[in-house]
Amino acid sequence: MTARVIDGKAIAAALRARVAERVAALGYRPGLTVVQVGDDPASAVYVRSKDRAANAAGICANTIRLPADITQLALLAAIEGLNADPAVDGILVQLPLPSSIDTAAVIEAVDPAKDVDGFHPVNAGRLAAGHPALVPCTPLGVMKLLEATGITIAGARALVLGRSGIVGRPMAALLLAANATVTVAHSRTRDLPAECRRADLLVAAAGRPEMVRGDWIAPGATVIDVGINRLPDGRLAGDVAYQEAVPRADAITPVPGGVGPMTIACLLENTLVAAIARRCG
Ligand code: NAD
Repeated sequence: MTARVIDGKAIAAALRARVAERVAALGYRPGLTVVQVGDDPASAVYVRSKDRAANAAGICANTIRLPADITQLALLAAIEGLNADPAVDGILVQLPLPSSIDTAAVIEAVDPAKDVDGFHPVNAGRLAAGHPALVPCTPLGVMKLLEATGITIAGARALVLGRSGIVGRPMAALLLAANATVTVAHSRTRDLPAECRRADLLVAAAGRPEMVRGDWIAPGATVIDVGINRLPDGRLAGDVAYQEAVPRADAITPVPGGVGPMTIACLLENTLVAAIARRCG
């Protein structure tokens, strides 16, 4: 067996085009403001690509760059200003923040209606309760990849590897809402290979390069690799040993070119959804 490779770039491009069409039909430009604190080069790259993709879709994207030594109070005041600005539909605070800043307090300061990252506890709670919510972009992107590939989720045994608030937990909530039977594995899980082997659908989000080996994968499983890990030689690796997984899986996402492109595309969709809900809601 050779797995079908799920082309995240193509699926994300189609989603971005659909968002651009819907934005064009609105009659106004939704506003997205990205807040970048400090000048971490990796964050700067992400912020630039978000900005570019949003503007290309007709969204009015701005980046506010704040110094790394900004006080907590000043950062919260900047967010309050964006909450109150009627032209701003979406606010995204680029993480990680400097260690002097209380990240949880900053996330909670964002108006949940403008929380296009879906990280606010109100949105996390709504998702966990099965209510409509702004959903974190990466797990939302995984759901859209599965849908576009025609993978049946209802009734599937799904294993989510990782329990972060950004990926693992919302991923599990979305799969449960789509009627999968969901197991969440994490750093304290016993016999992880055996847990993985039971899964029809394996979503790896542990941040450990190539930790999921080929023989952890049930023949015919769908493998979604969320991990993005920089190897010492500069190459990018996922959390799945891709070459070992390809002969076992039915479908698999590559790294790069799998989940990654979906994250930004879903940010654009979340901004559109937030704008419509706020302005027409
Ligand atoms: P995190 O460090 O916050 O969480 C990792 C989770 O994996 C934790 O819950 C931990 O319990 C679990 N874990 C770690 N080591 C483990 C082990 N040895 N065995 C079992 N479980 C283990 O990371 P995160 O923010 O959720 O990100 C996970 C990965 O996804 C990273 O590689 C990150 O770069 C990537 N990521 C990609 C995108 C994207 O756009 N594709 C977005 C966000 C994160």
